[in-house]
Amino acid sequence: MKEYGLYIDGQWVPSISGRTFQTMSPTTDEVLATFAEGGREDVEKAAKAASKSSLKWRALPAPKRGEILLRAASIMRRRKEELGKLVTSEMGKVISEGKGDVQEAIDLLEYIAGEGRRLFGETTPSELRHKFCMTVRQPVGVVGLITPWNFPFAVPCWKLGPALVSGNAVVYKPASLTPLCAATLVGILEEAGLPPGVVNMVTGPADRVGVAIVEHPDIGAVSFTGSVASGRDVYMRASALLKRVGLEMGGKNPQIVLEDADLSLAVEGALFGAFGTAGQRCTATSRLILHENIYDDMLQRLVSRTESLKIGDPLDPAIDVGPVCSREQEDKIMRYIQAGKEEGAKLVTGGTKLTGEPYDKGFFIEPTIFEAAHGMRIAREEIFGPVLSVIKVRDYEEAVRVANDVEYGLSSSIYTADLNLAFRAIDELEAGITYINAPTIGAEVHLPFGGVKNTGNGAREAGSTAIEEFTEIKTVFIDYSGALQKAQIDE
Ligand code: NAP
Repeated sequence: MKEYGLYIDGQWVPSISGRTFQTMSPTTDEVLATFAEGGREDVEKAAKAASKSSLKWRALPAPKRGEILLRAASIMRRRKEELGKLVTSEMGKVISEGKGDVQEAIDLLEYIAGEGRRLFGETTPSELRHKFCMTVRQPVGVVGLITPWNFPFAVPCWKLGPALVSGNAVVYKPASLTPLCAATLVGILEEAGLPPGVVNMVTGPADRVGVAIVEHPDIGAVSFTGSVASGRDVYMRASALLKRVGLEMGGKNPQIVLEDADLSLAVEGALFGAFGTAGQRCTATSRLILHENIYDDMLQRLVSRTESLKIGDPLDPAIDVGPVCSREQEDKIMRYIQAGKEEGAKLVTGGTKLTGEPYDKGFFIEPTIFEAAHGMRIAREEIFGPVLSVIKVRDYEEAVRVANDVEYGLSSSIYTADLNLAFRAIDELEAGITYINAPTIGAEVHLPFGGVKNTGNGAREAGSTAIEEFTEIKTVFIDYSGALQKAQIDE
């Protein structure tokens, strides 16, 4: 079994405390690797290495920085099969999705490498003669990146790609459940030619490593993806230090189906949206809001499709749903299922933790559907598991009212053949993302990604907005008149 240190200044080193922790398979509960458990002093070392390397890195022309990311993408392409298996082994998503996670990382790196040849600023006329005005983008300096376990390749690349192409050095803390994917990714960046000290990875617990990154005075910006509770803590600590923070947090994403929708399409969408990645996507469909006229028909078709899903070893390509990522995840999801029963929701299918061979050693929960009422906890709070609440509504207006009445606003979807209502939904759904006749999942890397309300704080990852978190804008005035010209002063 492999042992990994922290990656600081281009070296794999033990943590100062000497403590270690293990990463496990959620399918078999086997230990996959041992990792150094970092702490505040290790973050100190990492931040120092990042600061030291940052001047040289920002001086490298941005297109050259982009070329390193392109090389990393091509290494991933070559190793996609193996990396997909790694994601599946450590995180538990089924193998097609494990490879999809890696593909999303490749897509992002390829897209963002081109940003090295853009990093656009503006030029604009001056109010004075012989004076030139423009803006240029500059790196923040050293940035802290904190990522969750559910997309262990894609989400880190959504942050590393734009941070690096913009010229920042990085202190990176991956989720403690998926450090092996993180270490492999860092190894790929090194192989692609990233100079020592530009990316430093400190594995270890949130309350020591995560907090130390957020609070470190040399780390000028923090980009965080995770739960609302953790994000709120990150925001409060960082804002006290007047740091820039990008937050991408949870969702309670609705799929609305109106009476004129193509029901076969809507059923397949709900199935993939709710039970893909065992419901552990920030954009997972966790509420299905059905028009009363198609409610019974759609529910019956969905239950029948759900009961046909194959649950088991996620490395087996015939399997549709793998385990959830950890025992804690499993316990939390089972507590929500219990809460749903207690608050009077009707369990239509699923609801149990699977036992016996081959499930005993892993964390397998049946895809679960409740008939729920709007306002119940299971229909309001993020469960982050294979649990779908189905809610009946009278019309479009009620559907949108129900969809919007939660604290989150990440993704949303509506199935309808009515063009007018589809466009009204784009206006009226409170979400960073709206899909028409498609499920709530399926982001593409060249478009901005993020949410409103408690899902985020206005930042958008990916797309043309990806670099905003990681760059400062400098405004430049060049006076070539040879005279002292005074803006705003009457002559
Ligand atoms: P989490 O418990 O909030 O942890 C996320 C990351 O933050 C981990 O690396 C964690 O470290 C660290 N962390 C936790 N509390 C921290 C704190 N107070 N200060 C600094 N770092 C802290 O979330 P998770 O369980 O890993 O991921 C699931 C959540 O992520 C869900 O809510 C999901 O919706 C959200 N998510 C959102 C998006 C999006 O783009 N909107 C994408 C994916 C996932 P440890 O691992 O060591 O605890």
